[in-house]
Amino acid sequence: MTKHIFVTGGVVSSIGKGLTSASIGMLLESRGLKVRMQKLDPYINVDPGTMSPYQHGEVYVLDDGSETDLDLGHYERFTSGPLTRDSNYTTGQIYLRVIEKERRGQFLGKTVQVIPHITNEIKEAISRVADSNTDVVITEIGGTVGDIESLPFLESIRQFRQDVGRDNCLFIHLTLVPYLKAAAEIKTKPTQHSVGQLRQIGIQPDILICRCEQSISREEREKIALFCNVELDAVIEELDKDFSIYEVPLSLRNNRLDELIMKRLHLSGHAPNLDAWDNIMYSLRNPKHEISIAVVGKYAEHKDAYKSIYESLDHAGISQFCQTRIARIQSSDIEEEGAERILAGYDGILIPGGFGERGVAGKIQAIRYARERGIPFFGICLGMQCAAIEFGRNVVGLERAQSTEFDKDTPNPVICLLDEQRNVTNLGGTMRLGAQPCSLVPETIAYTAYKSSSVTERHRHRYEFNNVYRTQFEAHGMKFSGLSPDGQLVEIIELPEHPFFLAVQFHPEFKSKPTCAHPLFSAFVAAAIQRHDGRKSRAASSPSMENTPVSG
Ligand code: GLN
Repeated sequence: MTKHIFVTGGVVSSIGKGLTSASIGMLLESRGLKVRMQKLDPYINVDPGTMSPYQHGEVYVLDDGSETDLDLGHYERFTSGPLTRDSNYTTGQIYLRVIEKERRGQFLGKTVQVIPHITNEIKEAISRVADSNTDVVITEIGGTVGDIESLPFLESIRQFRQDVGRDNCLFIHLTLVPYLKAAAEIKTKPTQHSVGQLRQIGIQPDILICRCEQSISREEREKIALFCNVELDAVIEELDKDFSIYEVPLSLRNNRLDELIMKRLHLSGHAPNLDAWDNIMYSLRNPKHEISIAVVGKYAEHKDAYKSIYESLDHAGISQFCQTRIARIQSSDIEEEGAERILAGYDGILIPGGFGERGVAGKIQAIRYARERGIPFFGICLGMQCAAIEFGRNVVGLERAQSTEFDKDTPNPVICLLDEQRNVTNLGGTMRLGAQPCSLVPETIAYTAYKSSSVTERHRHRYEFNNVYRTQFEAHGMKFSGLSPDGQLVEIIELPEHPFFLAVQFHPEFKSKPTCAHPLFSAFVAAAIQRHDGRKSRAASSPSMENTPVSG
């Protein structure tokens, strides 16, 4: 019988439920259990695919092409169970399913209501991931307890526990225990209120995980236990981790969370094997190199807009004992101040994906700067399209090279709509999405990095390189090193004459893990290390040439 863990959050949002849920998943997997992760989001959008990155950060794409919440990125980075369309449901999807059933007459003339129809649909969504191959399903409930829109989800998990039995279900509540500087005290009242609210709707949490800036004393834990009606050993401290998020599972392990879960759910497994995670921490604490990478995007000020890219750069650093400092650079700043002023001193420049024309001019300036100065460059999706535009304008001589996304009537459409996109009118879930195969050309950066002639990577785009321009670009030194297996779609471009200039139409950042860095990110970081070390040794012989890296 599959066991279920439900993770709810209280007091404030952005409390780290995703990371904590992923850490619990990782700890259970380290004991040999088969875990599947799931997120239920209370918003009404059918999926986050049409939302601005300002809302919930990046849209995380799965192999099956579903566009999901960024917390699924944490799940994939921390755990290895499969994630599919069933791993992320929103209120919008639940209602859509119920309304479609109603239109088909499936409710046989009954009045369709939140209880039982919406709640049943939610319970079915939870059961769908509990297959016979799964020991534990961890379902994170988005939002904060007390939100009106979370109520149907909370009622559903309350019922779910009744359905599957108390021994098969665990409620974990993540809460904030703030430290008030003025009073020089930790405050437990918000947690008491939050648990009180959960109890009002019939959920008594089994375990409380307390996010805190200051360690919680035993006395305080006793107080929380008493007033929240949980046992003392079930009040678990989760101290802020400023050094690295990869410390979180190790610190929860130190606080014996995994032991407690195993006991409460009557699970059996071996002692946790955390060698791979200890190695991550060892590498992070003992760097041999240090580089600084500029990530130039439209949403640089939003820390989660390019979350998986930042993580992937860290992973590549971890695998090479390199501290990777990342500067989030607003592309519009380059438009205002020039590439030299903003980008001088970085060891590598990365342009992430994106939509719309704002900031594209700055990205193109950044790419030109990287290309002409021999700075390692990595372009992703829109980053690749901008690299093709830049090369078209400044190397091939196509003055008005442009994507038809930004100018439908350009005389030089080097980037144009994919054929399959020409008649698409609905925006949600209609891009070229998910895992697609890519064939690699031998003796290229891509081939050398992947050590393989064919790979599968995740996509999310409507535009592509226009094949009309392939021969012209090749004649000017661009290499098309990755193509769709039928040779029709350009997936990777590179410049062999440059120390490292590579751009991809797909999103490699969705397949990188702290325990297994993505080969293209590794190659990019290796090139940045080489540049950094080369500059350092040149500077040692001639100090005036030193160009101080700027840190973000
Ligand atoms: N806007 C571009 C397209 O739709 C790039 C998309 C992306 O970067 N994810 O093709």
